[in-house]
Amino acid sequence: MAPTLGNPKNTIEILNKYSFVFQKKYGQNFLIDTRVLEKIIDAAEITKEDFVLEIGPGIGTMTQYLAEAAGHVTAVEIDRNLIPILEDTLSGYDNVTILNEDVLKVDIRRLAEEQNGGRPIKVVANLPYYITTPIIMGLFESHVPLESITVMVQKEVADRMQVGPGTKDYGALSLAVQYYARPYLVANVPPNCFMPRPKVGSAVIRLTRYEKPPVETTDEKRMFRIIRASFNQRRKTLVNGLGNSLEVQASRDDVTAALRQMGLPAAVRGETLTLEQFAQLSNLLKEA
Ligand code: SAM
Repeated sequence: MAPTLGNPKNTIEILNKYSFVFQKKYGQNFLIDTRVLEKIIDAAEITKEDFVLEIGPGIGTMTQYLAEAAGHVTAVEIDRNLIPILEDTLSGYDNVTILNEDVLKVDIRRLAEEQNGGRPIKVVANLPYYITTPIIMGLFESHVPLESITVMVQKEVADRMQVGPGTKDYGALSLAVQYYARPYLVANVPPNCFMPRPKVGSAVIRLTRYEKPPVETTDEKRMFRIIRASFNQRRKTLVNGLGNSLEVQASRDDVTAALRQMGLPAAVRGETLTLEQFAQLSNLLKEA
């Protein structure tokens, strides 16, 4: 069965059939460009062996493409008004499960265990932009068995995921993503590929999960507490920012000594440290 959605005419037809009203609070911007959809599916490298989790299927546009390519697709949609539409647009596929849930409340690790025997899953989505970071961080931090995440996000967020130290976009999200995965920008996508058009530019990014993180830390949670505290007070030096942070519990002297051991000046700011240096700092502060 060929996908029927993914163009403006059929999208409008199905929306009218069900008198669907867009809910702004759910970040609903549906894809209406087949080339973009094909690009996402290609980048995700979906095969019939794959179990795919789709977050926010909308009216089922991308779900149809995923169902064609994958072994099984489970799609989690919060808006109950979309459920009858999805039952209609996906009626030709027997390898799709729809869950009417808030994805942030779903135990995805358990879902992967129950539906895919704990084997790594692929996540593919045109994400609701208002919860991009909690979704991505939730997937990584709860150690969901993952092969890759291929998602449409706000262009600016895709930039933040890829950059290194010394740029204005560099921050806690860059470091977290790059600790868990290798980012690859698939495509920039303009607002006219969606209905309704979003106010911001978008981009498709693929995050391929590392089997082993690229740096070694004796305490992952502690390293991320240090990273967060460093960027919470971006303009402060690390000695001032971390030395005052309740989360980190290190004294100014501990931080100064650790930085000296790393060969860094006492006035250094977090935004100049690499992931490797944050791992090293975390290990030294733990010893202190
Ligand atoms: N996949 C569709 C497409 O590409 O046309 C729709 C993408 S739209 C950007 C985001 C979708 O996520 C909407 O269908 C929205 O209702 C859904 N959504 C928003 N918040 C959600 C949540 N917390 N849990 C699950 N789905 C959510």
